[in-house]
Amino acid sequence: MSKEFPLVNVLNVPFINTTQAAFLTTVESRINARLNTFIVTANPEIVMYARENPDYQRILSNADYITPDGIGILKGAAILGTPMPERITGYDTMLALLKWGNEQQKSVYLVGAKPEVITDVATVVADRYPHLNVVGTNDGYFADFAPIAQDIAKTKPDMVFLAVGFPKQEQLIADYRHQNNGLWMGVGGSFDVLSGHTKRAPKFFQQHHLEWFYRLITEPTRFKRMMVLPRYLNTVKKAARHQK
Ligand code: UDP
Repeated sequence: MSKEFPLVNVLNVPFINTTQAAFLTTVESRINARLNTFIVTANPEIVMYARENPDYQRILSNADYITPDGIGILKGAAILGTPMPERITGYDTMLALLKWGNEQQKSVYLVGAKPEVITDVATVVADRYPHLNVVGTNDGYFADFAPIAQDIAKTKPDMVFLAVGFPKQEQLIADYRHQNNGLWMGVGGSFDVLSGHTKRAPKFFQQHHLEWFYRLITEPTRFKRMMVLPRYLNTVKKAARHQK
């Protein structure tokens, strides 16, 4: 874990306690210095998964930064008496870094999502960020990551975005990050949104912290995954009581 930011512990996951802007400044200077950097953007689902999977917990503890992705983390931190200022989501961080990368003529490698999605992502990125150098793309349904990692080692991108969902993306990053000194970040379903295949929640839902609700009504198959939320909040409340 890097030391620049104070940490807030939510059920044994150490989140950086800072703003999106301050975080971006730090990440950008690390990319400029070609430092090996592993970012995890964690939501309650990830926190609960880490509780039950020591291997994944270990991977998280080796990340450089864990950011609060999801309102549930802010809620949890507040209940524990250590409030955090704002969400730092994977999607927003990726967009900000793509924009900055375009201005600074950085290079990027994009891996993840279905073949038709990554093709559209490549088109959107080339169109919106013409000065960003996309040195490689691959869909997320590969049998073996090793050849992709080899290509990453060869092309040496400033940033690698891996969109294959958790826990796989973090496991792969932990295994292969040593092959390239740059940024490695798991971005979950972000390519589906960036390519327009999935719509992000309308502003109203975002502003009222109801993105989760929007996703639930538009993708009802996520219901089972979301059942972890009440369990997470109960666990946080119990931890808060034990603190007293
Ligand atoms: N995915 C992939 N390879 C796999 C499994 C999933 O590339 O073997 C992609 C999937 O197409 C989707 C993303 O990973 O784009 C996972 O999205 P989800 O919203 O479930 O991720 P979360 O942000 O919740 O981790």
